[in-house]
Amino acid sequence: MSNDLSHVVSADKAHVWHHLTQHKPYEVGEPRIIVEGQGIHVWDQHGTRFLDAVSGAVWTVNVGYGRTEIGDAIRDAVVKLNYFAGSAGTIPGALFAERLIEKMPGMSRVYYCNSGSEANEKAFKMVRQIAHKKYGGKKTKILYRDRDYHGGTMATMSAGGQDQRNEQYGPMAPDFIRVPHCMEYRAQWDLTGEAYGKRAAAAIEEVILREGPETVGALCLEPVTAGGGVITPPEGYWDAVQAICKKYDILLHIDEVVCGIGRTGEWFGYQHYGIKPDFVTMAKGLASGYAAIACCVTTEEVFEMFKDDPADILNHFRDISTFGGCTAGPAAALVNMDIIEREGLLENTTKMGARLIANLNALMEKHAVIGDVRGKGLFCGAELVSDRAAKTPVTEAQMGAVVAECAKQGVIIGASNRSVPGLNNVLCFAPALIITADQIDELTAAVDSALIRVFG
Ligand code: PLP
Repeated sequence: MSNDLSHVVSADKAHVWHHLTQHKPYEVGEPRIIVEGQGIHVWDQHGTRFLDAVSGAVWTVNVGYGRTEIGDAIRDAVVKLNYFAGSAGTIPGALFAERLIEKMPGMSRVYYCNSGSEANEKAFKMVRQIAHKKYGGKKTKILYRDRDYHGGTMATMSAGGQDQRNEQYGPMAPDFIRVPHCMEYRAQWDLTGEAYGKRAAAAIEEVILREGPETVGALCLEPVTAGGGVITPPEGYWDAVQAICKKYDILLHIDEVVCGIGRTGEWFGYQHYGIKPDFVTMAKGLASGYAAIACCVTTEEVFEMFKDDPADILNHFRDISTFGGCTAGPAAALVNMDIIEREGLLENTTKMGARLIANLNALMEKHAVIGDVRGKGLFCGAELVSDRAAKTPVTEAQMGAVVAECAKQGVIIGASNRSVPGLNNVLCFAPALIITADQIDELTAAVDSALIRVFG
């Protein structure tokens, strides 16, 4: 490590409060500093190269590192005009909105902000305002699902299905109501396949009827649950969910913060399931982390509700996001989208995702500790259990050891977040969409030997 980097490490240890991290161990050890990235690889302060199988730890760098053309586009945009508040338009903002909507038939309006949590908050606020404007203050309840995650702000935490994240931060905001998860591997009903999917959807209807349909404004779901354990929906689930929303006049909010912009092999996760959403929120892969940008996208029908009475001073969406007016985000997002199209990254995602699943399934034959393999495109998980029949989760220490062993072999992988104690047991893989077949094999070979070292 160069002298300069020793200084960086000590500055970091002295002053940076890392996300999601216990800092006590740093008093003797040192934090990992990521110094550089290129393609699918990153280098740390010791010059060690890692294959990053989780796109910046949290599934963000969809087009990979070192894209100078995105850097150039950001530079050009900010030199011409870095910022103007979203009460006016900007050239990159208008052009990216047009481009995005081309990929989202049925949707029509883009509201810019700068984090996934914030995008979800915008949708929640729109739902609440519609409840007041159209339903006399009823229909304020927002349903969310067990194990889903929507962000770290107070309202998104209130819509959070991972209990440990909320412990010690209460009280939560009112009128966020939980519905059961749809994970077939840890089944809540003695059914399989489509029957299971329909039953899991019916569980949502039961909650709506318990709460009173006239009080429920929206249902907010991830298309594939991400940090809650890479949960792919069972067959028939989404058709039934949509029918329920329609039946009770409930707006459907799809959180695409992780799945959006190619991660699952379509532009959006919801497009695999024939879903017609009222709100789609997105962030991470939108500009692959080259600039902070997020959007809450909605339909013309929703938008119309906010302008039906120009004489009423309250009759617009009374919200602003200061940095939603930065031009760097949409300028980066435009080039990010160009790259995905030009390099055929949706197709690559489907192909490489199938290879990743096949490799993980082969590992499941070999390692009894893998209880289930799930995924969509380049977003996959392997659930680790100490007893396949009982589905007993492995310990957190064992999960940590597998992740650490992979890192020793030069591969960074992820693990699901604790939703209930003891269920932090899903290895997560979400590499950049540029990954090659050889790199997929290198990644699963590292997992193979990590499992051998930890479990024998
Ligand atoms: N929604 C989902 C599904 C997420 O996974 C995340 C973050 O991991 C968020 C929302 C929140 O995004 P942000 O951290 O940008 O606020």
